[in-house]
Amino acid sequence: MAEVWWETIRVEMCQRAGQPAALEVQRVYAAEFLPDQPPHVAARRCSLGIACNMLDRPGCCLAGTLPGHDPRQP
Ligand code: SF4
Repeated sequence: MAEVWWETIRVEMCQRAGQPAALEVQRVYAAEFLPDQPPHVAARRCSLGIACNMLDRPGCCLAGTLPGHDPRQP
């Protein structure tokens, strides 16, 4: 059975939140060892995504409320 893990890949300052936010990915590891097969990335999220969705304006692509907008990009 495949294993699924959420892993933090980096922490960056978010201009909208005004604090560091962790970018997390959901990685799916195959049930058997496959040397040439890296884990699949099934989803992405931000550690502050739930808090951002409670605000009165759209967040960003990582919060799921404003696709196409990434406040971490210059
Ligand atoms: S969900 Fe988006 S806007 Fe909110 S802290 Fe994370 S990166 Fe910033």
